[in-house]
Amino acid sequence: MNPKSVTLIGLGPMGQAMAGAYLDGGYDLTVWNRTPGRADQVVARGAKRAASVEAALTANDLVVMSLTDYDAVFAILEQAPATALAGRTVANLTSDTPGRAREAAAWLAERGAVQITGGVQVPPPGIGTPEAMTYYSGPAVAIEAHRPALEVLTGIDHLGEDPGLAALYYQIGMDMFWTGLLGYVHAQAVARANGIPAEQFLPHAVKTMDFRYFLEFYAPRIDAGAHQGDVDTLTMGAASLEHVVHTVEASGVDASLPAAALAVFRRGIAAGHGQDSLTSLIEVLSRQ
Ligand code: NDP
Repeated sequence: MNPKSVTLIGLGPMGQAMAGAYLDGGYDLTVWNRTPGRADQVVARGAKRAASVEAALTANDLVVMSLTDYDAVFAILEQAPATALAGRTVANLTSDTPGRAREAAAWLAERGAVQITGGVQVPPPGIGTPEAMTYYSGPAVAIEAHRPALEVLTGIDHLGEDPGLAALYYQIGMDMFWTGLLGYVHAQAVARANGIPAEQFLPHAVKTMDFRYFLEFYAPRIDAGAHQGDVDTLTMGAASLEHVVHTVEASGVDASLPAAALAVFRRGIAAGHGQDSLTSLIEVLSRQ
């Protein structure tokens, strides 16, 4: 079998970018997608359209999957006989929970296939660029066997054997990503309400959203459980958030997001952490 040969199942925006990277890299690419028309462009560029899920699976040792969630993964894989999966390595680059990733790995193992779980850390245009990375977990031997084909897409950050680990790291990242980016979007609603265009505020937004100093300062303190309020306190943070809520309300913008943050700070103060650092909220949140 041509070593530069791979099957790709799923042609959403991410799958389209992956297909493009494989075709650019000279790969013999077989594709399958639930809505067949979404494969037309990559087929026009030289990809082979599999007539069935079974044909897609049996075309190559390595099967890359990029789908909305693991319900979609199962909906597709269950269309093929188990014999089509035996001996395959499924690089499942679909996001979902760690539990679902472990469930799928066990399901595939029962059918003689190996799952490599992946959590892609870049948007579709980042696929194939040098700085792009994917969290991977699963058997090292399977990752090494397919390293060249996986590296066509992104770099490999192999976290360990547990198939849920890549999904866990990915979801921890998404926890920061969505709440952080929503904070940005909310702040831009306040800026717009006050006649400040997003582009005008951009340099200030970039500076404010660069949390590197804080992350490096707090990480060792978090691990040590050292929440002393020598630099910041929850009482100070709550006072600051009250100013934010009042400014947001005066701007005619929905204040539910900073109000939710203020409520968490107040819970921390009520729990006796008023003179402790922001990081003491980890203890409060973990009590849930
Ligand atoms: P999409 O949700 O657009 O993926 C759609 C793909 O899933 C299509 O191939 C679609 O088929 C298929 N699909 C959905 N439901 C089913 C089903 N029930 N049965 C069969 N096929 C189904 O996601 P993206 O392409 O944007 O991303 C793919 C994965 O990559 C996701 O898990 C996403 O979280 C992750 N990711 C995405 C990033 C991004 O910026 N887009 C960034 C990092 C990771 P059809 O064409 O027929 O609808």
